[in-house]
Amino acid sequence: MTITTPATRDRYAKIVATLGPASSDRSTIKALFDAGADVFRLNFSHGSHADHQARYELIRSIEQEVGRPIAILLDLQGPKLRIGRFADGSVHVGEGQNFRLDLQDLEGDARRVSLPHPEIFAALQPGIDLLVDDGKVRLRVIACGPDFATTQVMVGGMLSDRKGVNVPTVLLPISALTVKDKDDLAFGLRLGVDWVALSFVQRPEDLDEVRGLVGGRAGVLAKLEKPAAIEALDAIVAKADAIMVARGDLGVELPAQQVPPIQKRIIRSCRASGKPVIVATQMLESMISSSVPTRAEASDVATAVYDGADAVMLSAESASGKFPREAVAVMDRIIREVEADSHYRAALDASHQPAQGSAADAVCASMRVTASLMPVATIVTYTRSGYTSLRAARERPSARVICMTPELSTARRLVLGWGVHSSHAPGDIDDVPEMVSRACSLARDQGFAKHGDTVLVAAGMPFGTAGTTNFLHIAKA
Ligand code: PGA
Ligand code: MN
Repeated sequence: MTITTPATRDRYAKIVATLGPASSDRSTIKALFDAGADVFRLNFSHGSHADHQARYELIRSIEQEVGRPIAILLDLQGPKLRIGRFADGSVHVGEGQNFRLDLQDLEGDARRVSLPHPEIFAALQPGIDLLVDDGKVRLRVIACGPDFATTQVMVGGMLSDRKGVNVPTVLLPISALTVKDKDDLAFGLRLGVDWVALSFVQRPEDLDEVRGLVGGRAGVLAKLEKPAAIEALDAIVAKADAIMVARGDLGVELPAQQVPPIQKRIIRSCRASGKPVIVATQMLESMISSSVPTRAEASDVATAVYDGADAVMLSAESASGKFPREAVAVMDRIIREVEADSHYRAALDASHQPAQGSAADAVCASMRVTASLMPVATIVTYTRSGYTSLRAARERPSARVICMTPELSTARRLVLGWGVHSSHAPGDIDDVPEMVSRACSLARDQGFAKHGDTVLVAAGMPFGTAGTTNFLHIAKA
C-alpha cells in the first residue's frame, strides 16, 4: 500500500483518541479523524479481540481512503489488581471496622472479600495502605500472612464486585505483563499496531520483556502511573520509545496536588531525551456528558501544549461519552489557539534543553538555528527508522518536520511525534541529489513549500542505517 497525499494538519501537537462503544462505526471514526484525531488508541482493558480487530480494520480502511498514515496504539491492561465479587454485589464498610482480604475463592461479605493476587500478600506489611475503587476506600494493613491481610478501614464507603486496588507505596514483585497482556500483545502485533503501551511500569527492566516480544514490530510506550516509576523516571524514559503521563492511576497512587509538577517533570525529561510524550486522562472529562468543556479543562489541554507535550489524549470522552467528535474538535481548536499565541514560541524556547553531543544532535541543533535565522518553509528528514525525524522534533524547530520514509510502519509510528508530518515514500534512493530533489518535490506536493522556498533536508548516510544522522542540506524547493 502506498500512502501519499497533500492533506495536512496545521498544528504541531497531536491528538490521541481512544475508541470504544461510542466510536466503533466507520462514520464516527472517520468523523474523529476529520475533526483532528491523529492516533487511535485501542484500550485492551475493555472489549473483545473481535471488537478491537473490527476497529483496527476500520481505521486502516479510513487510512486508505484519506491517503494519510494513521497511528494505532494498543494499550495493554497490565497488572491492574482487583478484588473479587460479593454475594450481594456490594457492601458498605465503615471507618474503624476491620476488613479481611484473602485468597479464598468465595464470594465476599461485610467482613471479607477475595483479593486473587498471591504476589501482593507476599509484599504487604502492617502499616501499608490499600486503595480501592480509585482511592474512594482506604484500607490499612494491621496483620498479614502469605494468603491474607487483616485491615482497618481508614476511609469507609461502598465496595463492589471487581473494583480496582492500588498499593502505591510498595514496589510490587510482579511483571508489568500479565498472561492476558501477552495474549493481547500477540494479537495486536498480528493485526499490525504501531505502538504498544505498557501499564503500571514500575522499573526500567519492566520494559525488557515487552521489547523482546515486540521485536521491533511496534514502538514501546511506558505508561507512568506508579510512584516507583517516577523515582526511576530518567532510566525509564531512556529505555522507552515514548511515554504516557497516565494521570488517572497516578492521581490515585499519589495525592492530586502532586500530579501537576510530576506531569511537568515527565514532559521535561521526555523533551530532553527526544521521546514522544502523551498527556492523558480527564483532559476534557466533563465532555463525557456535555457538549462543551469547562474552562479548567480548556486550560489543562493548553498547559500541556505550552509545555511542549507531543500529544494530548481523550479516553472516555471519545470511547464512551456522548460527544466524541466534539471532544476531538475542542482539543483541535485549543491546540491551534495556543500554537497561534505569540508567547507559545517563547515558552517552547525557554523550556528547550541543549542537544546532546552526537552527530545527529549537532545536525538537528544546526537545523533549529538555521530555521530561526532564515525563513525555512519546512524540514524534510529522510529516514528508515524515524530516528532523524524524532531528533529533529526534539529541537521543537519553528518549521514542521516531514518524516519522509520508505517504511510504511515508520510513517505510521511517527505520526505521534510533535510537529511531524509523516509521508510514506516507497522505493530506494541512491544518492544525495536524488534525495534532495525528492524531498523538495514532496514538500511542494504536500503543500509545505512553494517553488523557491528554503527547505532543510536532513538524513543519515549511508542511507538506511538507523542512528547515523550526519547530513544537513539547505535546498531551494
Ligand atoms: P488507563 O490508563 O486509562 O488504562 O487506566 C491511563 C491512566 O491511568 O491515566
Ligand atoms: Mn491507568
